[in-house]
Amino acid sequence: MQFSQLGLLPELLRAVDDKGYSKTTPIQEKAIPAVLSKRDIMASAQTGTGKTAAFVLPLLQLLSQDRDNDKPRVRVLIITPTRELAAQIQDSVLTYGRYLEIKSMAVFGGVNIKPQIRQLRIGTDILIATPGRLLDLVQQKAVHLGHVGTLVLDEADRMLDMGFIPDIKRIQALVPKTKRSLLFSATFSNDIRALAKSMLNQPLEIDVAPRNTTIETVNQKIHPVDKKVKSSLLIHLIKQQSWRQVLVFTRTKHGANRLVKALTKAGISSDAIHGNKTQGARTRALAAFKNHQTDILVATDIAARGIDIVQLPLVVNFDLPNVAEDYVHRIGRTGRAGIKGSAISLVSADEIKQLRDIERFIKMHLQRDEVDGFEPIEQLSESRSLSSPAPARINRRMNKTRSKQRVDKRGSQAQADSSGRSSQDNRNQSSGQSRSTTHSRVRSFSPKPANQRSRSSQGSRRQMS
Ligand code: AMP
Repeated sequence: MQFSQLGLLPELLRAVDDKGYSKTTPIQEKAIPAVLSKRDIMASAQTGTGKTAAFVLPLLQLLSQDRDNDKPRVRVLIITPTRELAAQIQDSVLTYGRYLEIKSMAVFGGVNIKPQIRQLRIGTDILIATPGRLLDLVQQKAVHLGHVGTLVLDEADRMLDMGFIPDIKRIQALVPKTKRSLLFSATFSNDIRALAKSMLNQPLEIDVAPRNTTIETVNQKIHPVDKKVKSSLLIHLIKQQSWRQVLVFTRTKHGANRLVKALTKAGISSDAIHGNKTQGARTRALAAFKNHQTDILVATDIAARGIDIVQLPLVVNFDLPNVAEDYVHRIGRTGRAGIKGSAISLVSADEIKQLRDIERFIKMHLQRDEVDGFEPIEQLSESRSLSSPAPARINRRMNKTRSKQRVDKRGSQAQADSSGRSSQDNRNQSSGQSRSTTHSRVRSFSPKPANQRSRSSQGSRRQMS
């Protein structure tokens, strides 16, 4: 569908045109009219399929049609789980709203609060915030939320899980009861879906893809390998396949640091992004990776949600995540905006439980490829049937794992990663892929390195970034 068929303002169509988008994505086709109709919405769309524009474009339209002449007041509040995502959404608001007179700003932890307070004094129509910093600002009377007409929870399932829900409840008590709510996420477990629905007023549910699936544009596989040689295998693959622009996920911050050390020692340019780094270091590491100054970015799940790295060819899971949803979000950093990507997981025998949970969650078995010279001594057990055990049990167990992580580690990774406040803010089936376990041996698996991609794709990277 053309954007012009959605009844958007000429200023917005011009901004979309500048970005080079020719057609709407499925989530945009459904969500833009729904947001314009001012209903509560609960939308799930696979990651990387244009969901930011799906809510930002119509919200900009509604705001500009309903202009206050006075000082801008916060009328749209967008809450995100990480600082990086808040900054990214702010960039999108500026891009899509460049021909309109709508004020917007992002606030998040880890940076000086004073400039944020000064800017809030001038006023803003759209406020994008991580929860803890927002509550700090409210407490310091730097922001008033009494005029919020629309509350958006991006990555809504994360915002409603055990780690964030107390903050979200506090924020909900600060905005008018008459506000409308828009919930967007790539994954919704059954429990979170039920909780979300109870918070909404006759929501319109939009599902543009089978629930909790990975996108077809991501080619997924695993390399079974012994735990102690994972770093060597990764270094071997990076060198042998000339990998550039790889986002590598580790489970822990220390694991990320250790891996960067090993990569650096092997002469591979890499950096880490995690919650123990200052916000300046996080921002610099992400920018250097996006600008192709660093080949490998090693990240904890801080970078799993929402972060858009245009034309990222490859995601590697150095460790599998403990929570199956996180696998979907991690690999969703590649294969975005319809472009092909690959996801490779290095899986050791002790990770079989995580692998089985992930396979059940994404409803497919992942192809297994052993790499010559790195065949595991400790064999990875077989996958299980995808239908057992019952999904309710899985969800309960996953929620338990997640809440335990959050509660046990208050002040540590999950929360520090999120947005920088130690207590509060720190707070598909693939078409070509098999449904049954497959084993094979590989000599090469080679997503095209960035420097070998076509001229036209390089051109569109510049246009879309
Ligand atoms: P998002 O899911 O919002 O993070 O968007 C993922 C990527 O898709 C971003 O790089 C957007 O710039 C890009 N994008 C969003 N909408 C479109 C569209 N209609 N056509 C092409 N690319 C798009």
